[in-house]
Amino acid sequence: MAADANCIFCKIVAGTIPCFKLHEDAATLAFLDINPVNPGHALVIPKAHAPNLFESADGDLAAVMAAVRRVATAVEKTVKPFGVNLLQANGPGAAQSVFHFHMHIIPRVRDDDLKMNWGLKPGDKAELAALAERIRSNL
Ligand code: 5GP
Ligand code: ZN
Repeated sequence: MAADANCIFCKIVAGTIPCFKLHEDAATLAFLDINPVNPGHALVIPKAHAPNLFESADGDLAAVMAAVRRVATAVEKTVKPFGVNLLQANGPGAAQSVFHFHMHIIPRVRDDDLKMNWGLKPGDKAELAALAERIRSNL
C-alpha cells in the first residue's frame, strides 16, 4: 500500500498516530475529524496515499464513496442532523490542509451558518454551453 512518511493520514492508517476510528475495510479508513465543525464530522480516506482527487485511483475513489455512504448513514442515525454535506478539497486555494485525499462527512445543525452554500442564480445558457464544450474537450 503506497504511503508517504510525512503524511499525517498515512500515520493514522499505520496506527502510529491514534484516531477515533469509525470504520475500516481493505481499502479505506473512516474516523472523526479532530476539529469537528459539528458533532459527527467524519473523514473517509483511502488507505493508499494520494494527495488529491486528480492523483487518486478510480478503485480507491469507488471504495471511499461506498464507505462514505455507510458511515454517513450511521452518523445520520446517531446525531440526527438537520442535513449532511459531503465536502472534498483539492489544493490550498480550496482550503485543503492535509494532502492525502479525504471526504468530509459534515452533519449540519440548524442555523449553524457554515459557509458552504450559495444562492441559486441562473447561469447564462450560451456561456454554459460554451464552457461545457471546453471542459468536454479536456476529458
Ligand atoms: P482539509 O482542510 O484538508 O479539507 O481537511 C483536513 C481535516 O483533517 C481538517 O478538518 C482537520 O481538522 C483534520 N485533521 C488534521 N489532522 C488531523 C489528525 O491528526 N486527526 C484527525 N482525526 N483529523 C485531523
Ligand atoms: Zn498519506
